[in-house]
Amino acid sequence: MRDPVICPHCKHSFEPRTEQLGGLIACPTCGRVVDVPGLHDPLWQLGRIGVVVFAVALGLWFGRHEPWHGAIATGAVLAIAWLLRFAF
Ligand SMILES: [Zn+2]
Repeated sequence: MRDPVICPHCKHSFEPRTEQLGGLIACPTCGRVVDVPGLHDPLWQLGRIGVVVFAVALGLWFGRHEPWHGAIATGAVLAIAWLLRFAF
């Protein structure tokens, strides 16, 4: 069961196909471009958990002598991941 997408232009609700997730599609009712979120994909969720685990692991590794180095490394990875989500 997929979350329905609601067109921001005409409020029409429809179910996107799998290959349309995370992309831009034309609304079947008004034909305008609709951004389909792919954030509910299990693979995407796994990737986000992976990024957090990676950030914490990197932080622990960098912080093994200087804890603040670890905090900066963790923060940097999370900040980059946060910025990257706008690119997809
Ligand atoms: Zn529409």
